[in-house]
Amino acid sequence: MTGLVIVGHGTRSAAGVEQFAALVERVRRRGDIGDVEGGFIELSRPPLTDAVGALVARGHRALVALPLVLTGAGHGKGDIPAAMAREQERHPGLSYRYGRPLGPHPLLHTALEQRIDAALAGTGQAGAGPAGADRADAALPGADRADAALRGVDRAGTWVALIGRGSTDPDANAEVTKVARLLWEGRGYAGVEPGFISLAQPSVPAVLERLRRLGARRIVVAPYFLFAGVLPDRIVAQSAEFAAAHPDLDVRVAEVIGDCDALADLVLERYTEALGGDIRMNCDTCAYRVLMPGFADKVGRPQRPHDHPDDPVGHHHHHGHDHHHDHGSVAVVGGGPGPDDLITVRGKALLDAADVVVVDRLAPQGLLAGLRPDVLVVDAAKVPRGPSMAQEAINAALVSHARAGRRVVRLKGGDPYVFGRGHEEMQACVAAGVPVTVVPGVSSALAAPALAGVPVTHRGVAHDVTVVSGHLPPGHPDSLVDWAALARARGTVVLLMAVDTIAKIATVLIEHGRAPESPVLAVQDAGLPDQRSVPARLDEIGAVAAREGVGPPAVFVLGPVVALATTGPTG
Ligand code: SAH
Repeated sequence: MTGLVIVGHGTRSAAGVEQFAALVERVRRRGDIGDVEGGFIELSRPPLTDAVGALVARGHRALVALPLVLTGAGHGKGDIPAAMAREQERHPGLSYRYGRPLGPHPLLHTALEQRIDAALAGTGQAGAGPAGADRADAALPGADRADAALRGVDRAGTWVALIGRGSTDPDANAEVTKVARLLWEGRGYAGVEPGFISLAQPSVPAVLERLRRLGARRIVVAPYFLFAGVLPDRIVAQSAEFAAAHPDLDVRVAEVIGDCDALADLVLERYTEALGGDIRMNCDTCAYRVLMPGFADKVGRPQRPHDHPDDPVGHHHHHGHDHHHDHGSVAVVGGGPGPDDLITVRGKALLDAADVVVVDRLAPQGLLAGLRPDVLVVDAAKVPRGPSMAQEAINAALVSHARAGRRVVRLKGGDPYVFGRGHEEMQACVAAGVPVTVVPGVSSALAAPALAGVPVTHRGVAHDVTVVSGHLPPGHPDSLVDWAALARARGTVVLLMAVDTIAKIATVLIEHGRAPESPVLAVQDAGLPDQRSVPARLDEIGAVAAREGVGPPAVFVLGPVVALATTGPTG
């Protein structure tokens, strides 16, 4: 079973470190995941590298790495993936799937609600007392506790200041604002206003002042924090200061979320989600999926796709609950013959923006190393079905990822339309109503001869070049090639997929009139470090290629241009 490493940022607060460790232990005790470790990327022990090292030592080569952060800001988006990249260098062959940030999530909103009610009922951290009290028994109040809490609670007369950590990433701040709104919806508080303890506005005093001017008499300051730490302590201190300056107000501070069952549930959910694939849609707070206070009638209601004015008329696709929040698309991209830098600028830009990359064996593998760590890479060569089903399975994967709102790049070797089945994939997307585009690529048919020093045309030497599939030998009932015409023609012939058929093809070309002494060049692994050229006469190429062990991928180029081959830096 895939091991889980829970990754924390680290804190100078001993209480915070303890709560993190307690949560890791709680998840481990659940027994749902075979092997669980936790580690920090800075400040606290144990470091991430020990946690990953322990899992690797127990035989894990594939992990789920879950950033234990509430919002997707710098730590979750950059620092933790960077730390994991270092672990991958330390442990060659280690792979990991990266989980999403925890919030917004109904489990968190319910936990916040409980902390706020506890503060109102006087069982929380009232009057800005010391932070980090033992939360173990308050973790998930039982029914009695909740009832007791609610009896003394006047939500309608209570304003909540929800205080996030604050970030330079506006999206992360917006998430806190969203949580404030979701916390307010249907729960009956007078209002919930977001604020931030660092880096973002409004500050704690500013949001408290705003609430005072709105007429608030009682305010609960709710830290949107997982664990105790320096910043939650600062929230307590600033709230106490504000309260001291306004003795007419009742200002209380709720506990942080802390180690609790709800958090362990959420960790398990994120783990399962990371294993199942790359889930990008914000489904957690979707009223059609999750019972939210006041919106119970929406759960499970069938969804209609958004109809864009430019959608093909009469076209309707239905996706059950898998409704679009964003429109996915597919780009069928030619990656060039193999090296990383022979892809087009457009193809590279699409690749950089992709959420999912479905890649062929002959596509430039080096480009995969540059993808963001959260990109899902699907190896089309390993599609788990029989070979005849493989293409259908690939088409289905392209369509389903795009329908889930993802930007899909189908990365192929060479040009997608040169013996690449690119158009079959295009047609499958069109038939499914998925937006699709093709990006031409540098085909090995032209690039391999060029990289071996052979121009496929040359003034006064060859005025035509024919690209031919050698997959089916001459005489095969399904062959569509007019071998006799090729033999009569004078120009260049480039044969792809002909390693197994070259001897037979050469014989047939000679039978129909090509000169036995015509020069042929086999070019193997063009553009790659192992590139090599094997020359021979047409009547000898079959024997020579076999003797020299020419293997795929290779092209054979035939015609008078072969005699022009330059050697030197390119050859
Ligand atoms: N769409 C691809 C061709 C796919 S068919 C393109 O446009 O290049 C696969 C064949 O391409 C191989 O059998 C081989 O003949 C050729 N090929 C692909 N990459 C090659 C390379 N780096 N060197 C030589 N031949 C290559």
